[in-house]
Amino acid sequence: MSLPSDDPLREALAWLTLYQELGVEEIAARKSPSGAWEEGASRALAHLRHEEIGDCSRCGLCSGRNRLVFGAGSPTARLFFVGEGPGAEEDRRGEPFVGKAGQLLDRIITAMGLSREDVYIGNIVKCRPPGNRAPLPEEAATCLPFLIKQIEIVRPEVIVTLGRTALEGLLGQPVRSITRARGQWFRFQGIQAIPTFHPAYLLRNPEQKRPVWEDMKVVMEVLGLSSQ
Ligand code: SF4
Repeated sequence: MSLPSDDPLREALAWLTLYQELGVEEIAARKSPSGAWEEGASRALAHLRHEEIGDCSRCGLCSGRNRLVFGAGSPTARLFFVGEGPGAEEDRRGEPFVGKAGQLLDRIITAMGLSREDVYIGNIVKCRPPGNRAPLPEEAATCLPFLIKQIEIVRPEVIVTLGRTALEGLLGQPVRSITRARGQWFRFQGIQAIPTFHPAYLLRNPEQKRPVWEDMKVVMEVLGLSSQ
């Protein structure tokens, strides 16, 4: 296998592929990825952030942002959460899911027996839509390739989409009802994915926490996790 050297991101991805080919058992288990695997993924993410996205102005959302919210978490996470886009607090701090909805997501992650450092959290768009409106389809479509690259680098075993907009963003088409869609597995970039409700929705509708936990229990089963 020859490794490209002209494009650092492609090179890092090629190395990751090679690690996978050479260490099938370790990577299939993904319990404790090697330092080289983790370092390669971390470097690829940093390259994507700084060299490819940079001070992005590819869509109109750039004009209202304070900070671009790239995503956060383990570069080798087995579980990848996808949200809609940054809110006010996230825009201020440059981190995903740090407001009240983020605190609820943290509690869900903890209940799964994981920590924020174990998972990866990203959004369909990386800049805050004004007034917390949903991203427009063209904004989501413009930003989506960056999220896809993040998913390609992290290579999670499971993707959980949070809320209707996140699901629509990944699918690139309208979803009539998140209530009907939640809990229904689909594949994205070859990875098994499951939609559930957004934590912000749960703050307004606490009675919907139970179905979300049912979804997370299925995810835990797939990942071989047991609850705390
Ligand atoms: S939302 Fe995405 S595509 Fe639009 S400016 Fe921000 S980073 Fe660029």
